Amino acid sequence: MEQQKRKIAILGSTGSIGTQALDVVRQHPDLFQVELLTARTRWEELCKQAIEFDANAVVICSEENYPKVKDALSGTDTKVFLGMDSICSLVQGDNIDMVLTALVGFSGLRPTISAIRARKPIALANKETLVAGGTVVMDMARKMGVPILPVDSEHSAIFQCLLAANGNPLKRIHLTASGGPFRTWKKEDMAKATAKEALRHPQWDMGAKITIDSATMMNKGFEMIEARWLFDTAPKDIRIVVHPQSIIHSMVEFEDGAVIAQMGHPDMREPIQFALGYPARLSLDNRKLDFAELGQLTFEAPDFDRFPCLGLAFDAISRGGNIPCAMNAANEAAVYAYLKSKVRFYDIPDIISKFMDETAFIASPTLEDILATNDEVYSKAKDFIG
Ligand code: MG
Repeated sequence: MEQQKRKIAILGSTGSIGTQALDVVRQHPDLFQVELLTARTRWEELCKQAIEFDANAVVICSEENYPKVKDALSGTDTKVFLGMDSICSLVQGDNIDMVLTALVGFSGLRPTISAIRARKPIALANKETLVAGGTVVMDMARKMGVPILPVDSEHSAIFQCLLAANGNPLKRIHLTASGGPFRTWKKEDMAKATAKEALRHPQWDMGAKITIDSATMMNKGFEMIEARWLFDTAPKDIRIVVHPQSIIHSMVEFEDGAVIAQMGHPDMREPIQFALGYPARLSLDNRKLDFAELGQLTFEAPDFDRFPCLGLAFDAISRGGNIPCAMNAANEAAVYAYLKSKVRFYDIPDIISKFMDETAFIASPTLEDILATNDEVYSKAKDFIG
């Protein structure tokens, strides 16, 4: 008897996570069927993917490219839709078993919420969803009984380590960080660093937004918040440790001091595949570890002075409410401005800090409050940057 294929939606299919997810599907065509693919602007690649994977539907989020996609797919069975509202309704379809959310930034929140409302298990690659809307998203997921499977490598590692807990509580999370491209740089050089220099990540090949977030280490701050929500762990029990080789993807410590680590060469297909195939472990044509060849793994403390975004993230989560959402929105505006050389490296934390302080505090934000805070802070920060 043929095994039931898992029918998946990949939101953000032309990005770094999306294309690697499709590589996983390519290796296991007997296990997965692609139902829905979405892209913001890269319409040609979206069409190619739709044809290769015989997708049931695609969504393109740029109005100007919509007719081109319609035209290119006119001879196929693939239905073509436009815009974020289409994504939000299509993820709820009966034909979908699991939704991989790999959209960039805050844009991932609405479709993730829609999918949770329709009780679709989520493979979450979009960390901003939890940074900005952690309480709302986790409350809803709990109420609907929807699993949220982490795709971020660190959180997949923690999730995998926790399978060893056997019902025992965790004591501490050790969240590893590569340190990014500026790990060994002096502060005065970082102050002058260009976006081009910041985009040279030593270990991970990712999109531009997350690569800049890695350079400022805001990415690690986001991941601390993401871990706080996914594993219901107090921020004081999440320790960040810089591990430049990126072999240990994160660790969990128990009451008795025992530490469980998950390891592998940096390759996002591993956590993607673990989430898509969960609870099964599937074969993968990745590079395997040879410990003698590795020789040594090293660790160092994070530098909160050179990387002020780390401290801002701890500050935002301790203030709580809508402040992490404000932090995320200001960061998003500042990072895009930095990519266009409109602001300097250390303007990013300054802009974030300013808008965290100026945002009207809402202690228990609703989804509407989160959406409003994001829109307000993002547009004010954009105006401020000019
Ligand atoms: Mg990560």
